[in-house]
This record gives sequence, structure tokens and C-alpha cells, in this order.
Amino acid sequence: MAYFRTTYVFEVLSEEPMDDPISLEELHYQTYEGHCSGQFVAETKQEQLTEVEMVAACHNHGTDPEFFMIGVCEECQEKDCPGVVVCPQCNVGEHGQAAETHIADHGYCRECLRKWQLGEEGGEDA
Ligand SMILES: [Zn+2]
Ligand SMILES: [Zn+2]
Repeated sequence: MAYFRTTYVFEVLSEEPMDDPISLEELHYQTYEGHCSGQFVAETKQEQLTEVEMVAACHNHGTDPEFFMIGVCEECQEKDCPGVVVCPQCNVGEHGQAAETHIADHGYCRECLRKWQLGEEGGEDA
């Protein structure tokens, strides 16, 4: 996964002081429909970020790094996923923190627990 930070510098010429901060919509309106002149100035700066730098940059924006799936398992989309844990009962691998905790606590997966519970109910019927 690659991450980038791109910085555009936009210059506005106006007869009134501009709002600070300003929304992109307002900026667009003022310079395209309104009575301001605007254009990008200076060179667009683009840099590649490491994951750690990207997390810090996200925090600067007030954006959750999860937005970019940082620290999220690609398989199960769970944050802090410990990877696949294999159930010793049925040998089926499951992803995620909850599965790992369940197998660690009970020695089998949630599916095995469900089957065991169903089996017990079935036993009462028979
Ligand atoms: Zn996972
Ligand atoms: Zn199982």
C-alpha cells in the first residue's frame, strides 16, 4: 500500500477579506461564480508517506486512519485482527479478535459452540 500527501497552493484575489477557514464549495463559488479571481500558484507538492507518517498526517486532518484501512485486516476488515486462528475442534480457521478470544477461552470456535448448542436441543427432541 502506498500513501501520498499532496499540497496545492491556491491564491485568491478579492476586494473583500476572504473567510478563514473557507470551505471548498465556497472557494469554488467565489472564484468561479463570484467576483474573486483564483488560481493555483507555486508548484504542487507531492510526497510519498510511510504508513507511520500517514497516520500522523491523518491525525492532523482529524481523519481516522481507518479511512485508509490502516491497521485494518484486508481479509476481515477488522482492526487489530490477530490473523487466522484455527479451531482445534473443527480445524476451521477464523479471522478476528473475537474468534481468537473465543477459541482461547473455550478451546473451540463460535461455530462449534453453535453446533454443540443445536445438538443439545436436538437431543431433547429425539
Ligand atoms: Zn482478519
Ligand atoms: Zn470449530
